[in-house]
Amino acid sequence: MIIVLFGKPGAGKGTQAPLLAAALGVPTLATGDELRSAIRAGSPLGLEAKSYMDRGDLVPDAVILGIIKQALSEPRNAAGVLLDGVVRTVPQAEGLSKAVAELGKEVAAVLCFDIDDDEIVRRLAGRVVCEKCQTPYTGREAGSACDKDGGTLVRRKDDEPDAIRNRLAVYEKQTAPVLQWYRDHGTKVAVIDAVGHVQDVTARALGVLAS
Ligand SMILES: [Zn+2]
Repeated sequence: MIIVLFGKPGAGKGTQAPLLAAALGVPTLATGDELRSAIRAGSPLGLEAKSYMDRGDLVPDAVILGIIKQALSEPRNAAGVLLDGVVRTVPQAEGLSKAVAELGKEVAAVLCFDIDDDEIVRRLAGRVVCEKCQTPYTGREAGSACDKDGGTLVRRKDDEPDAIRNRLAVYEKQTAPVLQWYRDHGTKVAVIDAVGHVQDVTARALGVLAS
C-alpha cells in the first residue's frame, strides 16, 4: 500500500502523517530522510546525490527517484509506505509511477489534507512565538510575555496574512496539476477535510482509505 500525502500549508499534514502511519502500521518515507541515509550508507546513488550537493546544485529527480525506489524495495517498507513530500511536480509523479511499476507495485491513493484558505490565515495569524525561547502560543496577543522566561511574544514574518496567502497560492499552483495527473491516471485522490480535532481528521483519512 503506497500512499502519497499532500497538505496545504497549515493543514496539519506534519501532525497527521505519523498518526496515520501508526494506525496503518506502515512507515513514513520522506525524501530528505532517505537522501541523508543513502549518503550516510555511501550507496552509489547516495554518493551521486552528494556530488551534486557538494557543488551546491539540486539533486536531480532521477537520482532522488532512484533512492526512493531503492527504499521501496527494502523489507522495512514491504507492507507499504506513506510518501511525505516525495511528489511535488508532475514529472516526479510520472517518475514515481514508473519506479513503483518496475517493483510490481502501484500508488494506492493520494491523500490531500485541505482547509479553507481563510481558516488557515486565521489560524496561523493567531500564532505567536517567544522571541527568546521560540515557544509557540495560540490565542495570545503579540507583545505579551512568555510564560517560561518572560520573553516577548511576536508573530513570525511567515505567519503574516500576506505571507500565508502567498504560500497558499504557490502550493495551489504547484499541487493542482499533480492531483489532476493522478486523477487522469485512475489513482484515487481523496481530499480530506482537515478542520476539527486531530483524531477526527485521522479517522476521516482512514475511512477514505478503507472505502
Ligand atoms: Zn520564552
